[in-house]
Amino acid sequence: MSDMDAHNMEMVGMETNTEPRSGVLYIVATPIGNLEDMTFRAVRILGEVAVIAAEDTRHSRKLLTHFGISTPLTSCFAHNEMQKREQLVERLLKGDDIALISDAGTPAICDPGSMLVQLCVEKGVRVVPVPGASAVIAGLSAAGLPTDMFTFVGFVPAKKSERVAFLQRWGTLEHTLVAYEAPHRLLASLEDISTHLGEKRELVVARELTKVHEELFRGEAAQAHAYFSTQRVKGEIVLLLRAQPKPEVRESVEETLLRLLKAGDQSLRQVSKEVALIHPISGSEAYSRALELQREPKD
Ligand code: SAM
Repeated sequence: MSDMDAHNMEMVGMETNTEPRSGVLYIVATPIGNLEDMTFRAVRILGEVAVIAAEDTRHSRKLLTHFGISTPLTSCFAHNEMQKREQLVERLLKGDDIALISDAGTPAICDPGSMLVQLCVEKGVRVVPVPGASAVIAGLSAAGLPTDMFTFVGFVPAKKSERVAFLQRWGTLEHTLVAYEAPHRLLASLEDISTHLGEKRELVVARELTKVHEELFRGEAAQAHAYFSTQRVKGEIVLLLRAQPKPEVRESVEETLLRLLKAGDQSLRQVSKEVALIHPISGSEAYSRALELQREPKD
């Protein structure tokens, strides 16, 4: 076989193996208030795709018109995402590029989109993020709380009993907690935070980010409650809690050891481990101090 034949065979082989290129799903972030936060890339991609799947087509049409984008829109919102994703993936598999947008911020973050993305991943459709604004990150970045680690928990539950359980579960983390909150429930949440996590719990209420009435309230839970009680709370809110302060150690190592040993429900090794969590000593050091204590004659 000549080199040329081999080359031709390779070409033929390539052609027969080539499946039609499937389209790309772009997850495009849009502004959370300030239109200047739209990225150049978002504008270009929204203008280039075959169709834009939007949470609310009427709402998004205004944004697109502002940027001179006339790409056709189709709806994809919380209650039709499961059926709609099948149609969208079918189009993607036929080769159409599609962009997904939500009413504001990053799609799929407390917004429709994650089920569509999951189906794309299952079917081998490429998913490309086009990042931009997201309230959770905007709030966190300006709050002034530690950002090296944080937990985002979506919306604070509306029902009181669920909210209290939620605060008890998430309010004791050792890093920053970030949540979305509705303006008409802010006071109730601040009250529950004061009651269940302490009046002095430090928090940030990041309201109307990037908009004209942007406000970042930083203070303690009771202060926040007093401040927001004097007004009708309006706008969109990200609520952030500073990590629960570690309880002050008032006991000496010996006192903690004696207290835990007296309780009698843990082995010496377990007690030593717990002491090492509370005091700045190692577990083995705590263990030998516990042995010493046990050897000491009791009066
Ligand atoms: N996917 C969006 C994102 O990435 O920002 C979040 C959508 S979620 C349905 C909407 C919630 O985000 C609002 O109820 C509010 O808690 C928060 N939010 C959105 N825009 C905001 C803003 N400009 N300032 C403060 N919070 C905002």
